[in-house]
Amino acid sequence: MTKTLLLLPGDGIGPEVSAVARRVAGRLISQGLALQVEEALFGGASIDACQLPLTPEVLAQAKAADAVLMGAVGGPKWAGQPYDKRPEAGLLALRAGMNVYANLRPARCFSALADASSLKRVFVDGLDILFVRELTGGVYFGEPRGVETLADGQRRGVNTHVYTTSEIHRVARIAFELARGRKGEVCSAEKGNVMEAGLMWREDVQALRDAEYPDIKLSHMLADNMAMQLVKNPKQFDVILTDNLFGDILSDEAGMLTGSLGMLPSAAIGDPGTPGLYEPIHGSAPDIAGRGVANPCAAVISLAMALRYSLGAPALADTVEAAVEAALDKGARTPDLGGTMTTAAMGDAILAGL
Ligand code: ATP
Ligand code: MG
Repeated sequence: MTKTLLLLPGDGIGPEVSAVARRVAGRLISQGLALQVEEALFGGASIDACQLPLTPEVLAQAKAADAVLMGAVGGPKWAGQPYDKRPEAGLLALRAGMNVYANLRPARCFSALADASSLKRVFVDGLDILFVRELTGGVYFGEPRGVETLADGQRRGVNTHVYTTSEIHRVARIAFELARGRKGEVCSAEKGNVMEAGLMWREDVQALRDAEYPDIKLSHMLADNMAMQLVKNPKQFDVILTDNLFGDILSDEAGMLTGSLGMLPSAAIGDPGTPGLYEPIHGSAPDIAGRGVANPCAAVISLAMALRYSLGAPALADTVEAAVEAALDKGARTPDLGGTMTTAAMGDAILAGL
């Protein structure tokens, strides 16, 4: 059966890196992959055309697709607007509408970049961590929330960290399933020493492991210790399971161990059989947008994740990742990796490996 991929190029460098992902998809289609690629407006581009960052039509198109591949959204042009007229509101609405509750963020180093001293960043050769971060609950969404002014004139701000067992189990299940295809090790982060809901997270994750995943080696770590361990000895981790807040922080931290923002993909997935949302970690990078020098690797590797988790083509996902690696091995580098290649030339180098 032909699967459908919806491309949402978005803003800034989003359309530039999406164009390369689209070329890669086109090559796979010409080699026999049964895939139909659609494209729609999203984010600032959609605001400019129809006053909304995400129209009901595009949301319906996303829910009907097998996978959605996003470029990036946002930029200075829309920054000062009311919240519902901002590109980022479209992204939150898309995630909510697609009911994707597990954010997958690989932090993986490509050995070819190990000697790229011009990265001027930490680089841990051989690093291969997969973060599974809960995306729809916790302190970012819990009620009550808000800021009130008290009788004495000072303000009181509230956000509430809330999780139910079913929310914890559904994201933990994804972590355990993915660990089975890797080293089989999951480390779960919380602050159970000071948070009741954190201790509950630990107990619920452990109970699911004991009942359904006895083959998985599960460990628990306090989130602050994990922040330290990620710097001290990051190779100890295989799959890391976190709530929304800790995962936001810890996966950003781990991402910086890999050399470049331009290499990092992500996925947001929900129940089996529902479409996943794939996107590079990086933003719209207004500082380099329009110059054709953005690194397209994160977008291409995000496409690989879509092939693996939503489009039923895990072998092709490996092929695409190998093509990126082969391009790097041959010295292909955009400026962020210390080279001089354009986005399109980097795309050519990746396509040469397909
Ligand atoms: P957002 O708030 O949208 O996440 P951000 O402030 O995190 O945005 P990015 O847009 O991700 O910022 O860019 C951060 C820096 O990394 C910028 O200097 C940008 O030029 C650079 N950068 C981001 N993505 C890429 C890429 N694909 N190729 C090259 N450089 C990039
Ligand atoms: Mg950012």
